[in-house]
Amino acid sequence: MLYKTLSFLSIPLLLMACQSEEEQLKTAESVISEVRMKEYVMELAGDAYQGRKPFTQGETKTIEYLQSTFKSIGLEPANGDSYLQEVPLVKVRGRIEEPLSIVMPDGRMQMQYVDDFITFSRRLEENILLQASDMVFAGFGIVAPEYNWNDYKDLNVKGKTVIVLVNDPGLESGKADFFNGDAMTYYGRWTYKYEEAARQGAEAVLIVHQDKGAGYPWSVVVNSGSTAKIYPQPEDDYKNRCKAEGWITFAKAKELFSLVGKDLEQLITEVRQTAYKGFNMGVQANLAMTNRWEKAKSYNVLGKIPGTDLADEYLFYTAHWDHLGIGKKMDGDSIYNGAVDNGTSLAWMMEIARAFNAMPRKPRRSVVIMAPTAEESGLNGSGYYADHPVYPISKTVANINNDLMLPFGRCKDVMVTGYGQSDLDQLVRTEAEKKGRYILPDPNAHTGMYYRSDHFSFARVGVPAIFARGNNDHWEKGKAYMTEKEQYWINNCYHKPGDEYEEWWDLLGVVEDAQLLFRVGWAVANTDQYPQWNETSEFKAVRDAQFK
Ligand SMILES: [Zn+2]
Repeated sequence: MLYKTLSFLSIPLLLMACQSEEEQLKTAESVISEVRMKEYVMELAGDAYQGRKPFTQGETKTIEYLQSTFKSIGLEPANGDSYLQEVPLVKVRGRIEEPLSIVMPDGRMQMQYVDDFITFSRRLEENILLQASDMVFAGFGIVAPEYNWNDYKDLNVKGKTVIVLVNDPGLESGKADFFNGDAMTYYGRWTYKYEEAARQGAEAVLIVHQDKGAGYPWSVVVNSGSTAKIYPQPEDDYKNRCKAEGWITFAKAKELFSLVGKDLEQLITEVRQTAYKGFNMGVQANLAMTNRWEKAKSYNVLGKIPGTDLADEYLFYTAHWDHLGIGKKMDGDSIYNGAVDNGTSLAWMMEIARAFNAMPRKPRRSVVIMAPTAEESGLNGSGYYADHPVYPISKTVANINNDLMLPFGRCKDVMVTGYGQSDLDQLVRTEAEKKGRYILPDPNAHTGMYYRSDHFSFARVGVPAIFARGNNDHWEKGKAYMTEKEQYWINNCYHKPGDEYEEWWDLLGVVEDAQLLFRVGWAVANTDQYPQWNETSEFKAVRDAQFK
């Protein structure tokens, strides 16, 4: 009887023990299943989840499903005895009472909400009024001492409305070392421009939209700007922020600048080439909005695989659970299901957790699997975690994040967003080459993707973070196929109700990315060294300060 039990239970374990680590990894990664990934996405992107918007029934359902899945995978609760971390947020719903109008020396230019401009306000104030607010053009709205660049130099913008260009001066400058060339720096992000305008004391800030510089079309600005916004709960009701933040279309901005005697295209060229000084436009902005808000709690969901001799050091995998909820109807559908954004990455992450648990031994470091909330509204869940970590940031060795994993099949490339930031690149390269794949630095680095998903929250506080997946070069069908598919997806699905699960999906690419990044994580969780930022990274100084 004893012999029988032993043979029945222990032969697989004995076999695993005899395997080399490479064989163990092979066995573990083979548990990653496309069928299960499809089940996860079908469930989480189902209409019953109502687009997984924080504070809704959709949230309740999502976090219940994630917790029960984490449990069934064998993850332990990662926040004491809970899988949840409470994230205090505020939801602000703005309404335009009187649309933006600009008073000229001889007349008035009326702007149409949505068609021409989008504005919102973070301030927890009921009435937001711009009354004859002097408008000032402030170049790119950037103060960057390391590039000897100050768009606000000699400008007085206190209590005024600034209008700034999208992205940063490096874009299309032809100079790779100037604001990182075509790759966006943090200075190019709208979040930065709003923060800087507030630091300068401006009353309002408007960004001139351009598809390339923003990295997305006007419809994306409209969809995210015209619905309720979510922010971390502030201590000062956001009195330190501009009254109004927003965007205007390129066409309308061009018209406005021509009315004050400037050619906008020419102006952009000049601003890029020289540290152009802004100017008072001699016109005034008027706008009336009302704000309603409610404070509410949302939740990050986190589980862990405890490590062994280095159990008090942590590797984080992340994939945000939230999406946009119910919004503007398009083609008869108002549920923004978020199947690719971010269902596929949730599936990727949960299958990686299974692979870790399929190894015959535990990793040396603890591995945390976290689904942050409120990413879509500005990396709020991961940002809250980074500022209120459960485990010390200085003991958090790395973050591996994913977002928008495309369902179009196996890719040869491993596209690394933020390539050149840290030596995690090298680990990804080593594992990619074992699989016959190659590293591709993100060809669309001008969109600033490194600052646009949850890994940035970790990077910001000094944790080396990587965002990598196959995206551009299909194994059988090549690059043109993926370009066409991705473009199709961006036009029809990105942040639209069309981001739905489809029967024909091929998730074998996501399976291979899970296998690859499981191996990268296994290496990170078991080596003696911490991953390091490269010398040129803007995040290196923050990390170094933690080890002084
Ligand atoms: Zn996303």
